[in-house]
Amino acid sequence: MTPSSFSPSSKRRLIAGLSGWIWLTCTCAGAGLEPAVRGMPIDHPQAELSAVWVGHATVLIRMGKRHILTDPNLAQRLLILSRDTPASMTPQQLPKASAILISHLHLDHYDRWSLQQLPYQGKVVFPDGAQPYATNLKHLRGYLAPHESVHVDGLKITAVPVSHFGGRYGIDALWDRSYAGYIIEDGKHRVFFAGDTGYDEQIFKDIKERYGKIDLALIPIAPYRGDSGNSVHVNPAEALKIFADIGADYMIPIHYEAFYGMFGNYALPRKDLNKATKEAGLQKKVYALKTGERWVLGRRGQTPLVISEKDESFQYAQSH
Ligand SMILES: [Zn+2]
Repeated sequence: MTPSSFSPSSKRRLIAGLSGWIWLTCTCAGAGLEPAVRGMPIDHPQAELSAVWVGHATVLIRMGKRHILTDPNLAQRLLILSRDTPASMTPQQLPKASAILISHLHLDHYDRWSLQQLPYQGKVVFPDGAQPYATNLKHLRGYLAPHESVHVDGLKITAVPVSHFGGRYGIDALWDRSYAGYIIEDGKHRVFFAGDTGYDEQIFKDIKERYGKIDLALIPIAPYRGDSGNSVHVNPAEALKIFADIGADYMIPIHYEAFYGMFGNYALPRKDLNKATKEAGLQKKVYALKTGERWVLGRRGQTPLVISEKDESFQYAQSH
């Protein structure tokens, strides 16, 4: 592609890609805050759906007896950038997952070191187009185009569009389009993992129309500056708009308090989310977990639980 063939959206993608690298190389050390739970928090196995926020976009979802892991990043740093809050679990502490979902190839979401440290796991699902970036992995892989599904261990996993940008190394944002969210279904519940996204008027309403009732939505709320997000990252108020558009029952915010402390301050996304949640009257719907906590769906009509107590009896070695 010659420079003269750059479309405005190509330029936006390039700026987004390169500014990510400038941010990575200019930023200061993280705040070093502790997770609320280190290791596996207590679960309620009789509950059909629970989720642990391991940190950043890494969520350990349990649907029935199956586990799904999203964007595993368990590393202490991102290139030279220290994490603000460490991941709550080490690779060896995670149970075997039926599927690992990679939303896109940015370093904070697709961390090859974390994937390689995980004991042999189920299928790793990438957005279509990620094939050249996923060589030399020991895992089984699958690649999904938008609205394409794969069945894994009784789960149906479908890639859905989001508003983000591709690439891994900055310049490749120009041609790489491999980014996605996912719908995960086990026949009883439906979970939406947004990965990393900006706000879009149509995309999320369309997801609601196509897929129906969503029980739990994992939606990013950072990074952003000022009162508005941008085309590739939502702020907390826009995250709540996505939550409304897809019509989910509950939301767990992700993608904050790990790597983006320099975008304002560490506490800002949680503070802004709490304010926006109160203004929208969604306090019983939005669960801003602390790193390492578990959310458990209650029985019909019951308030979900948030658990911040470690399961001291959990047998890590036996879970693999
Ligand atoms: Zn990203």
